Amino acid sequence: MNWLTNFVRPKLRALVSRKDAPENLWLKCPKCEQMLFMRDWEANQEVCTHCGHHMRIRPMKRLPRLFDEGKYELHPLPRVTADPLKFRDTKRYDARLKEAQAKAEGTTDALVVASGPMGGRMAVLALLDFGFMGGSMGTAVGEGLVMAAEIAVARKAPLIVFSSSGGARMQEGILSLMQLTRTTIAVRKVKEAGLPYIVVLTDPTTGGVSASFAMLGDVHLAEPDAIIGFAGPRVIQDTIRQELPEGFQRSEYLLEHGMVDAVVHRHKLRETLIRLVHLLMDPVTSEGRGVAVAVR
Ligand SMILES: [Zn+2]
Repeated sequence: MNWLTNFVRPKLRALVSRKDAPENLWLKCPKCEQMLFMRDWEANQEVCTHCGHHMRIRPMKRLPRLFDEGKYELHPLPRVTADPLKFRDTKRYDARLKEAQAKAEGTTDALVVASGPMGGRMAVLALLDFGFMGGSMGTAVGEGLVMAAEIAVARKAPLIVFSSSGGARMQEGILSLMQLTRTTIAVRKVKEAGLPYIVVLTDPTTGGVSASFAMLGDVHLAEPDAIIGFAGPRVIQDTIRQELPEGFQRSEYLLEHGMVDAVVHRHKLRETLIRLVHLLMDPVTSEGRGVAVAVR
């Protein structure tokens, strides 16, 4: 034992085993299988620079690109009883929650609520986080959405939801299903106050979320090629015993069939939302003032 083994060797090891190893610098596009340089991909809002495939992006990465000058205020989710049923499958539910919370940013569950100026006007955004237990809706997400609706009403601001979810959170049983009605009532309060409620459907929006607040927008936008539906295609195919058409449950198919109003590239979302809110909140005058611009 000497200074060489005690001091120099650990220092060298630390240098060699740095975290930014080459495998973290590149990733493969799941669609076109081209290699993407991580930094370019992040700068491109996690859209493939080769084929334009929109990958799932977490709320905290989205937010700065949506608000004016990237300035916004985060609203912590209301406290709820964690693991009300003391549920356990292969793992305890509260352990799963803690694990997801440790990796989450800006929130304590699968919803991020933020408010700030968008195009010079206050807007309230609620974004589901698929990276947090599949964006599943339990009591915390339900409470969060109710809170977001209340903030929108209090501030006379539009409510904009970004949906991305596998559905209701099974570990909370009937309590998660109760959030379908609660969120529906919350959305109605926004509409009764005469404020716009806009939904941006992102990949994937399924189950209980698509069966409640995600399908109740005044306007529905969708990101390209996102899966949007209630049950999975295999379940439907087995039930109706028919082959499903190509592109079934994808944004473009839903647009063609009138479930979605516009499919919008991630880079165009901010300006589209600003224009939509302007159209919905600033009535066109008899002199023709106001703006009448197509969504796309
Ligand atoms: Zn690609």
